[in-house]
Amino acid sequence: MRDDVQLDRPPRVVPPVLMYHSVSPATTPDPNLLRVHPDRLDAQLRALARMGLRGVSLRELVEARDGGEGARMVALTFDDGYRDFLEHAVPVLDRHGMTGTVYVVAGRLGGENDWDEGPRLPLMDADEVRAVAAAGHEVGSHSSSHAHLAGLDPAALREEVAGSRLALEEVLGRPVPGFCYPYGDFDAAAAQAARDAGYDHACVTRDYSVADRFTIPRFYVGQRDNGPRLAAKLGRHLLARTRVR
Ligand SMILES: [Zn+2]
Repeated sequence: MRDDVQLDRPPRVVPPVLMYHSVSPATTPDPNLLRVHPDRLDAQLRALARMGLRGVSLRELVEARDGGEGARMVALTFDDGYRDFLEHAVPVLDRHGMTGTVYVVAGRLGGENDWDEGPRLPLMDADEVRAVAAAGHEVGSHSSSHAHLAGLDPAALREEVAGSRLALEEVLGRPVPGFCYPYGDFDAAAAQAARDAGYDHACVTRDYSVADRFTIPRFYVGQRDNGPRLAAKLGRHLLARTRVR
């Protein structure tokens, strides 16, 4: 996919990567704080634009950084592949001329988030995943079954990381360069499995301890994050990444 020199080189500066899950106007209980209302997402994207920032897929951001560009980009990532992404997030992203990355659980397409305690939410099926890609957004892998990857035995790890990539490439008919560790849970073997599977990069949650190309940190954005709170989180991200370098 890329030459070997590029593969293990981290993005020049750890880029800001926002992490979302569900985007929906639903009012049912949301104990795991997975949901952001479409109006809130709209306000957050407006706030980013006011800061001179453009939301893009993580693939686009990493490619831009590889080329020495993308300083005004932030990546917008949406975990688990909830069906509401197509209905509620895509129109808001379109309105702002922004794109995002959806990390889908390859073995659960058309199913539910049965790995979570709490409310069950429907996940996109294969046709919907293709529709997301056709609408100009990135589809990445979030493993085969949303397993905890740290400490997993080698064969199961390969199935979760490499197997999910093959399955998604079959669905999409195109390469899948991005991987996202379920629960942000990774160890050295999991990161190596992502490299070995041919991914270009992978992202984690919050953890800034490694922050290389296969452990790109992300921070949580939720319903309570208005413009000033989002700006504060971006600021904290800049400080955190400074500490690790
Ligand atoms: Zn997840």
